[in-house]
Amino acid sequence: MVPEFRNEPLTDFSVPANRQAMLDALAKVRSELGRTYPLFIGGEEVMTEAKIRSINPSNKDELVGLVAKADQALAERAMQAALKAFESWSRKSFTERARYLFKAAAIMRRRKHELSAWMCFEAGKTWAEADADTAEAIDFLEFYGREAVRMGEPQPLARIPGEDNEQFYIPLGVGIIIPPWNFPLAILTGMTSSAIVAGNTVVLKPASPTPVIAWKLVEIMREAGIPDGVLNYVPGSGSEIGDYLVDHPKTRFISFTGSREVGVRIYERAAKVHPGQIWLKRVVAEMGGKDAIVVDSEADLEEAALQIVGSAFNFSGQKCSACSRAILHKDIYDQVAARVVELAKSMRVGPATEPDSQVGPVIDESAYNKILEYIEIGKGEGKLLAGGGKAEGNGYFIQPTVFGDVDPHARIAQEEIFGPVVALIRADSFEDAIRIANDTEYGLTGSVFSRNRDHLEYARREFHVGNLYFNRKCTGALVGVHPFGGFNMSGTDSKAGGRDYLLLFTQAKAVSEKL
Ligand code: NAP
Ligand code: MG
Repeated sequence: MVPEFRNEPLTDFSVPANRQAMLDALAKVRSELGRTYPLFIGGEEVMTEAKIRSINPSNKDELVGLVAKADQALAERAMQAALKAFESWSRKSFTERARYLFKAAAIMRRRKHELSAWMCFEAGKTWAEADADTAEAIDFLEFYGREAVRMGEPQPLARIPGEDNEQFYIPLGVGIIIPPWNFPLAILTGMTSSAIVAGNTVVLKPASPTPVIAWKLVEIMREAGIPDGVLNYVPGSGSEIGDYLVDHPKTRFISFTGSREVGVRIYERAAKVHPGQIWLKRVVAEMGGKDAIVVDSEADLEEAALQIVGSAFNFSGQKCSACSRAILHKDIYDQVAARVVELAKSMRVGPATEPDSQVGPVIDESAYNKILEYIEIGKGEGKLLAGGGKAEGNGYFIQPTVFGDVDPHARIAQEEIFGPVVALIRADSFEDAIRIANDTEYGLTGSVFSRNRDHLEYARREFHVGNLYFNRKCTGALVGVHPFGGFNMSGTDSKAGGRDYLLLFTQAKAVSEKL
């Protein structure tokens, strides 16, 4: 019997022993920086001449690792390895496959701080953010393992006399797993393990900024004994091998999390049926957000300001769920705006490896330039109230930035910036605030701060987002507690960490025998 699912607890770093354990983990990881990592195809390590340079965004001169880079020929080899492994992996029972996930979760738990430390270095996650990422990765393994066991159980059917009827779930085939860099362990692990436990084999193309963390999952799955060819790891350029794998006639499904732009591209390409292809590809695409926190005239304003700032600036706003619009009722606008500005200015920006840093760097140079460009656009669209440019350090540091009196249709109120920038918008009434909140092409997360029950019920019905929160932040979804995924251009609402998720990677077969 598998015990009931429980979320992995977060680490309290104010406890001296925990703080010391994290410092030790950072020292261990620091001593391992700069190593070289291979591809992993069909159970074999494969080295390539070309390499991806993974650097520390808090310190541009620090090399985190050099990672082998697959070309199309190696992507093809990975596809062939996955096809071969599917023959036997698909025939194992759900319960048997689930055991690999439970084993991997146990290994991750033992290496928890080390994995978090890798994320401090490679993704620029502060201690608390990295710790939450590792905990979520463990949760995905534990949760999808249990879901697989449940899916393997007999499915209830109506009965007719004289027949024995049964329905069961079978896997799809080879899946292409394309995760983002912003939850480089959690989302990577969730997307990979869900596909695998359902009986599919996968070609994993990690995001280029965070391939070393992705390698850690490969290490862990190997230690857990995953059979050769079930998990193939092929870092490489999205446009070169990404397109190749998406277009491949043997690709059965694509599980993608990332930007709207790339998600739409994959969706369109996957619709084309290629010679030799005997199915319609399935696409799960989770994409961007332009998430809003609405503050009503009757609300705990201090709490609202705190949660706006946390949701907007933790991990430098690089979460699909991050608050990038705060929509404030006109009666409390000035008070909340003043407090948000005060809190934003007080945040300590610095290297993610330092325990006191509250805001780390953004991921890389192109993100850095793009965010700074949006800040310049914002200076023409709203009133700059806090931040407004680069912050000090040898990394991609940007000041927590607040713009006031932003028009709901301004570019900074409509386009995903994916950085530490929040637009404050004035609303005439509560209903007006919800209308503004809905007036984007996205629909991922949203929060409402209100003490008015009618207003909360109005928002429950009318605020069109996949994950809606009342009187709390709009980030920090927990596996099994807040199944996660958005509407409209935020994606296919696949609800990661929820009971429907594994169905996406299976197909149901019904068998009837006349007695
Ligand atoms: P991205 O630029 O779209 O990249 C995501 C992945 O797609 C990466 O592995 C990338 O590889 C790959 N890729 C790029 N071009 C490709 C192509 N032509 N074919 C196949 N794959 C391709 O997104 P990101 O910058 O990593 O992540 C940030 C975005 O993810 C934000 O928009 C955020 O809102 C979104 N996100 C959404 C959710 C959600 O649950 N809805 C969760 C987290 C993040 P390379 O790195 O090699 O380019
Ligand atoms: Mg990108």
